[in-house]
Amino acid sequence: MLNASLKQLAAQLLEKKISSVELTEVFLKHIRSLNPELNAFITINEEMSLAQAQVADKMIASGQTHPLTGIPVAQKDIFCAKGWLTTCGSKMLSNFISPYDATIIERFNQVGAVNIGKTNMDEFAMGSSNETSYYGPVKNPWDTLAVPGGSSGGSACAVAARMAPAATATDTGGSIRQPAALCGISGIKPTYGLVSRYGMIAFASSLDQGGPMAKSAEDLALLLNVMTGFDARDSTSLQREPEDYARDLDKPLGQLRIGLPKEYFAKGMSASVASAVEAAIAELRKLGATTVEISLPNTQLSIPVYYVLAPAEASSNLSRFDGVRYGYRASDYTDLEDMYKKTRAQGFGAEVKRRILIGTYVLSHGYYDAYYLQAQKLRRLIASDFTEAFKQCDVIMGPTSPAVAFNLGEKSGDPLQMYLSDIYTSAANLAGLPAMSIPAGFGDKNRPVGLHIVGNYFREAQMLNIAHQYQQVTDWHVRAPARLPEA
Ligand code: GLN
Repeated sequence: MLNASLKQLAAQLLEKKISSVELTEVFLKHIRSLNPELNAFITINEEMSLAQAQVADKMIASGQTHPLTGIPVAQKDIFCAKGWLTTCGSKMLSNFISPYDATIIERFNQVGAVNIGKTNMDEFAMGSSNETSYYGPVKNPWDTLAVPGGSSGGSACAVAARMAPAATATDTGGSIRQPAALCGISGIKPTYGLVSRYGMIAFASSLDQGGPMAKSAEDLALLLNVMTGFDARDSTSLQREPEDYARDLDKPLGQLRIGLPKEYFAKGMSASVASAVEAAIAELRKLGATTVEISLPNTQLSIPVYYVLAPAEASSNLSRFDGVRYGYRASDYTDLEDMYKKTRAQGFGAEVKRRILIGTYVLSHGYYDAYYLQAQKLRRLIASDFTEAFKQCDVIMGPTSPAVAFNLGEKSGDPLQMYLSDIYTSAANLAGLPAMSIPAGFGDKNRPVGLHIVGNYFREAQMLNIAHQYQQVTDWHVRAPARLPEA
C-alpha cells in the first residue's frame, strides 16, 4: 500500500478494497513510526485527517469520485489550511492557526483528498537543506546523515519515506526540484502563473510557484490536474483553458530534440552526478530522442541575479512583520540590527535576517540602480537565452543539483556554498519556465541523483510524457530507501 501509485490507490478505493479512513490510518501509522526520526512533518492532526477521510468515503459511496478522492496528500506548511497550524517553518508563525484555506488546499478539499499533515520546510522557504527551519532539520531517508534538500525538504522526505503518496511544495529558486532530486522522487514546478499563490505564504512573488511531488510522472500529472487553474484571488494567475496533464503520457517520444547546455556540462558537476545524468540521456536516445548542444550564455548570472531579486521581494513581503506595523518609524532605529532588537523581527532566524539585510540594501537609495535595476535587466537576458535555445530543441536537460545530498551541517555555515545548490534550477524561475526533476539513479555514497528537465512555456504535458516514457524503461522512481519498515 505504501508503495502504490495514485492510480492504484484510486482503484483500491473505488473497488472498496480499502476505505479512505483505512488508507489514512495506514499512512498515519507509518508517520508515527518514522517521523520522530526524520522530522518531515511539523503538524500531524489525526483527528482532522480522519474527518476528511470520512467525508471522502461518503463521496465514494455516493459515486462522486475523482482520481484523488480519499487519497492522502502531505501539504507543505507554507499553504494556509483552515483550522491547521500554519507556520511556514518560522517561530514568527508558531501560533498561527489559519482561518482560511489557500486555493490549492481548497482544490484538494473539493475533490475529497485528505490532508495527511503539514510538512517541515526552511523558514519562509529560504534555504536548500531544511536546516533553517525553526522546527529543526529534516533527515534524508536514504541516509540520515544527509540533508533532504530544501526548502521543501519535509515534503520530499515524506514521499521518499512513503509517509505520503504525494505532497505539495513550492519553488522559488529550486525548492521543488532540488529536494526531489536529493530524495530520489519526482517533482514539477509548472509555468509561472498556472498554480494559484493565494494562501501560499509569499517568499518572492515574481518567482514563487507551487507544484506537486510524487513518486512518478504519472502521479504528478494527476496532481497537476487538481492544482492548476485560474484564480481571481491571485492577480498573476493565468486565464487558460484547463488541460489534462495526463493526456500525452503514453505517446512515444518520436522526434524529441533534447538540448544539452554546454555551460552545464563544462564544469562544476560532480563525476557521479554527471555519469548518472549521461546514462539517463543515453536511455532517452534509445527511445528515439536526439540531442543537440545548446548554449545558455548568461546562465552563470542566475545565482547572483536571484540573490538580488529574491531578497528584495522577500524583504518587502516580510516587512509585514516589522515595526512599521506597530507604529515604529525608520527614525526610531539606529540601524537594522537595532530594528531587529526593538521589533518582532527578532523572531526571525539568521538566514531570514540575512535576506532582509540584502533585500533592504539592494532596494535602498543609491544602490537600487546599481543592483536591483541591473538584476532586472539581467533577468530578461537569462530568459532570452531560453527563447533562443528553444528554437533548436524541445526540452533542455541536465543535472538538477551539482552533487548528491550533502551532510547535515556541511554547508550551514557557508551561505554561498548553500546558494550554489540551485545553480541549475534558479534560471527557470527567473524565466518563469516549467521545470522538473525525476530520479535518475544513484551517485556518491549511494545517494539519489535527479535529472532536470526544463520545458518551454506551458509544455508540462510534454515534459510529463518524456518523464513517464523514461519511467517505463527504468525503475529508479519505484526504489524506496531499504531501511524503511514495511507496513
Ligand atoms: N534555495 C533557494 C533559496 O534559498 C531557493 C529556495 C526556494 O526555491 N524556495 O532561496
